[in-house]
Amino acid sequence: MENRFDPGRLVRKGLQELVPYQEITYPGVIKLNANENPYDFPEEIRLAINEMLGPQSFTRYPDAMAQQLVQELAHCHGVSAEQIMVGNGSDELILDLMLTFGAGNRVVIAVPTFSMYGIHARVAGAEIVEIPRQFDFELDVPEIVRASGDAALVVLCSPNNPSGNSATVEQVQSILDNCPCPVVVDQAYVEFGGPDFLPLLDRYPNLVILRTFSKAYGLAGLRVGYLFAQSQVLQYLFKVKQPFNLNTFSQVAALTVLRHRDVFAPQVAEITRQRDILYNTMQQMPGFDVLPSDANYLMFKTGYSAADVFDGLLSRGVLVRNFGDPLLSQYLRVSVGQTEENVIFLRSLQQVIAMLG
Ligand code: PMP
Repeated sequence: MENRFDPGRLVRKGLQELVPYQEITYPGVIKLNANENPYDFPEEIRLAINEMLGPQSFTRYPDAMAQQLVQELAHCHGVSAEQIMVGNGSDELILDLMLTFGAGNRVVIAVPTFSMYGIHARVAGAEIVEIPRQFDFELDVPEIVRASGDAALVVLCSPNNPSGNSATVEQVQSILDNCPCPVVVDQAYVEFGGPDFLPLLDRYPNLVILRTFSKAYGLAGLRVGYLFAQSQVLQYLFKVKQPFNLNTFSQVAALTVLRHRDVFAPQVAEITRQRDILYNTMQQMPGFDVLPSDANYLMFKTGYSAADVFDGLLSRGVLVRNFGDPLLSQYLRVSVGQTEENVIFLRSLQQVIAMLG
């Protein structure tokens, strides 16, 4: 008998059309494509994690509310524990936001920006309203406010991935004052620069701030993100949260990193110093346009096809980020690496441009 099983028939159109997030791995390359902390994980913190892991039971489920981590995050950020939720990376928290507020509703996203907002919005069945940033990637505040009138969520990113620029306090306040829905400000890169919007939290019940241990704090592999919001908003997010979303290992590692966070300050200082060196050097390269960045990456145009420059760099063992986004067709993004990696990147870039020219 003919097998007429066709699962696609059962999947809604929006999901059928969704292109999954893909990450091709290139073994052995200098990896400057994902804005990770480029340094080796500090040995003293690794030892402290091992020590703290010792007595943990892996046969029991983790603490569903990650209470100790939440309490210490609250203490360290000067907020109450009731204003925090932790997630399996901020990616999971973005999904939770979309499931809670986006499903069946409109979600306003200031683009170009981090692709997971759009992917998770589609997964949740939201209708996406994209508000293009202006020519210099500044937020179009009046358009965001206008679109928010019949939306359930607004998503901003500051510093913005990939353009690197930050929103101002005035812009964010104006959006918060005028949007009748939760406004997410993703601050995944705030340790590297730009305004921290957390001080606004008590004044704005519609403010939601996303943060992560994946960037400045070197824990991308262990997936720990966190979110600040007032309990009015959080109560709904907890309805969709996976019960044991943060595993025991990651809870221990994040707690230990938090207690040792001073160790990361010199790394962050060196990354921002290296970023400024890279910016100044690339800015002087003929035909280049490099965007000033508050984050640990730089977005740039070379005057040549982004795909050709990407391929040329990759063939020299340097992986940067090429966007599959029509809004960014000429641009590439490079994460700040260790000093010698940045030197190799710049040398390879010069060689590629000379070859293409
Ligand atoms: N937000 C932004 C702006 C990002 O760039 C990233 C990672 N690329 C994330 C969130 C996801 O971070 P996490 O590792 O915490 O899921």
